[in-house]
Amino acid sequence: MSPGKLAAQQMMSECGIDDPTSIPLDLIVYGRGATLIEKPLSNSEGRIVFGKTKAIITVNSDISYEGKRRFVIAHELGHFELHRNLILVHNDTDATLEYFKNGHQETEANEFASEVLMPEKLFKAECKGNKFGPDLLRHLAERFQTSLTSTVYKYFELGDHPICLFYSFNNQIKYWKRPEEYPHYINDRTKLPPPEDSVAAEFFNEQKIYRKEDSKQQIWKSTWFELKSWENDNDFRFYEYCIITPKYNTVLSVVWEELK
Ligand SMILES: [Zn+2]
Repeated sequence: MSPGKLAAQQMMSECGIDDPTSIPLDLIVYGRGATLIEKPLSNSEGRIVFGKTKAIITVNSDISYEGKRRFVIAHELGHFELHRNLILVHNDTDATLEYFKNGHQETEANEFASEVLMPEKLFKAECKGNKFGPDLLRHLAERFQTSLTSTVYKYFELGDHPICLFYSFNNQIKYWKRPEEYPHYINDRTKLPPPEDSVAAEFFNEQKIYRKEDSKQQIWKSTWFELKSWENDNDFRFYEYCIITPKYNTVLSVVWEELK
């Protein structure tokens, strides 16, 4: 198990908390001995300052979205639990809070936050028997009061249905990941624009954002994956659901196959 996840599970069990939505997150922070302040921050979303005995966590009060606010607080709490002897002052921006490709400590803090907000056991129970799709992701995000993005990463790790993720910024693919032993080979387009017939490209080229009801879009296998010479696109059913943040010009494409 990752150190971040382990630390989160230990902390929650020490606090005697099974369900993180049953108690305000602020109380958990106070209970651990840190002080939480909310005020406007100009260049970061969250910050932690370690004193000799105390630590102050500040969360940007301009964050309007509760799921993100919770993630930032849990991320800083992760630094408090895991890195208190390693850092003195630390600022978090949207870049450090991002799940892909980050330094060691950021990854740990993100894994910590993910586990505090969406404990594995509860998350798995909530997924069980539910068909994968945008509706399930929205349900999970509501249930755990988390952002859709952090919910998707958790689902990638623990969900029943294998999914692939492609993260694009400014019409360029930054990172992608697929489950181990995924049966389809991804065409690596890192640093290139998303495929022309992808839903992500529709956003970058035409600013198209689908309504909730239509957010699950059928695509070809060949859109994101290699189509073998003996394969036919018509024999596969692939879907793409895009989590779009127009403010940052980012798209997280969730791609999955449904077997006929
Ligand atoms: Zn951080």
